[in-house]
Amino acid sequence: MIAATPYGEVLQIRMSRYPDFPSAMWVCAYLVDGLLIDTGMAHTTREFTEFLKDKYVKLAVNTHFHEDHISANKFLQESRGIEIFAPPLAVEKISKPAKLYPYQEEIWGYPVPSVVKPLGDHIYSDNYRFEVIPAPGHERDQICLWEKTNGWLFTSDLYVSTRPVACRSMDDMWQILADLENIRALNPRVLFPAPTHVVYEPAAKLDELIAYLEELGGKIVEFYQKGKSVERIKEEIFGHEDMFAQATQEQFSSLNMVKSFLKDCL
Ligand SMILES: [Zn+2]
Repeated sequence: MIAATPYGEVLQIRMSRYPDFPSAMWVCAYLVDGLLIDTGMAHTTREFTEFLKDKYVKLAVNTHFHEDHISANKFLQESRGIEIFAPPLAVEKISKPAKLYPYQEEIWGYPVPSVVKPLGDHIYSDNYRFEVIPAPGHERDQICLWEKTNGWLFTSDLYVSTRPVACRSMDDMWQILADLENIRALNPRVLFPAPTHVVYEPAAKLDELIAYLEELGGKIVEFYQKGKSVERIKEEIFGHEDMFAQATQEQFSSLNMVKSFLKDCL
């Protein structure tokens, strides 16, 4: 299922396998001034490529190598000859078959490998310059794109909500916090996230999220220093894991969040 919504000059193209999937299981690509930011998931590749048929797309960027950001690459290259760039750390991974957990296969599907070019520290569309902002907390290769004159920040998977309670084992929560402080300092006017709604004037939400993560991380470290086990800390702060942990083969869990904040202690 595909739904497109214009936000001024930026077109959000939201994809999900089923229409009733909640946000966080969607993925959004953005099209602005001929620049396509991310190419979506395998399950919607055909629909997405068809949707873009009559749109002006000059080039594309993958914000990181995850399967829900790269899947139409090959199709867009073959049908439209579009040049695609990705962060240097992602280029090799995108060129090889992905290894997915069953939940990833169910929600997003396997991407077809593709050959993309390494992205430098900025990229131009016809009228705008987008600065590449590294955001390695969610995944080491992840980047955001920052268009200063309009205050547009394309945040990929860095921003999901103001109160996350679970993460993957690969997520580095202290680095995510540093990434958020970094983008907050840019003072963006609009956030264009991949997994959720567009956020106008995001300062208050970013401040709330940063304060929440600082407090949470501090509390987790303090509990650990008092001799509490990882499992006990998880129970005291978050209680039982929710259905999402079960549905994702425990890949998204509160236990992972505790472990991530304790990465320098364990
Ligand atoms: Zn991701």
